[in-house]
Amino acid sequence: MAETIGFIGLGNMGTPMAIRLADAGYGLVVFDTRDDVVAPFVARGAKRAASAADVGSQAETVLVSLPTPDIVQKVVSEVGQGTAVKTVVDLSTTGPRVATAIAAAMKERGITFVDSPVSGGVGGAKAGTLAVMVSCPRQTFERLEPMLKHIGKVFFIGEAPGAAQMMKLCNNLMSAAAMAISAEAITAGVKAGIDPAVMVDVINVSSGMNTATTQKFPRSILNRRFDYGFATGLMFKDVRLCLEEAESMGLDLETAKAVRSVWQKMNDQFGPESDFTRIVEMVERPAGV
Ligand code: NAD
Repeated sequence: MAETIGFIGLGNMGTPMAIRLADAGYGLVVFDTRDDVVAPFVARGAKRAASAADVGSQAETVLVSLPTPDIVQKVVSEVGQGTAVKTVVDLSTTGPRVATAIAAAMKERGITFVDSPVSGGVGGAKAGTLAVMVSCPRQTFERLEPMLKHIGKVFFIGEAPGAAQMMKLCNNLMSAAAMAISAEAITAGVKAGIDPAVMVDVINVSSGMNTATTQKFPRSILNRRFDYGFATGLMFKDVRLCLEEAESMGLDLETAKAVRSVWQKMNDQFGPESDFTRIVEMVERPAGV
């Protein structure tokens, strides 16, 4: 059996990633504040840790997949109090500043922090086809790559802490824009009397094709399930973080600002827990569609 690793945060993304690692032969020590997501792992042989610090006392390598930068900072700091941990791999989206700050704090404790955000959604996490973006010392990357290959295609972005986070934020800005503009364009077509399924079929062999039309509409919107598995609050967070970085570099990104204001409205109207595909409903309602 491969080494035992720690895994904290068994949510929409963490659960399928941790399952793939367990299936690949890694032993798991798991922790989440929700017992209902921990129980299935215990049932299949994983060890339940009492806290994040306990995970850090039972595993040299600890992976985390957590919702917000604040939670990541708090949890990783607790993991660092553990007696065994040497490497913490953060699969969450937190932004470069938080990654840089955590990496510095961990370095003081002799722990290597790896920012390794992922893209590809719950479907990609289940299939092991995520894009895994990694920044850390090259030697650490070479050691982690065989493990990370079980969750997706692994990319070395650079040694500087936060580089992978910046990569991820740029991607998600594009994804957020694609979702928002696709919702608007398809609602306009529907209002004019065109069948949305026909629109999606046409767009997917035309120049407007994007991940909203190839994945989100077919899987969760046309069937009105709105169950894609990515929360509005997380989408808004990613756009906000990306613009904060851009603005701190003196960039004035006009389209990105419009995208941020659309996701701010979505977050206010539908709430941060809502599935982000419901943005279609936000556009449809005032249009009377
Ligand atoms: P989620 O909310 O489904 O899962 C987060 C998990 O963390 C939950 O199980 C929650 O109980 C747990 N948690 C919260 N606070 C905790 C704490 N203090 N200690 C231990 N566990 C705690 O979120 P998700 O959709 O799985 O996303 C996780 C991260 O991955 C986010 O940063 C998100 O931006 C990123 N991401 C999500 C997707 C997606 O499609 N869902 C895709 C790529 C990246």
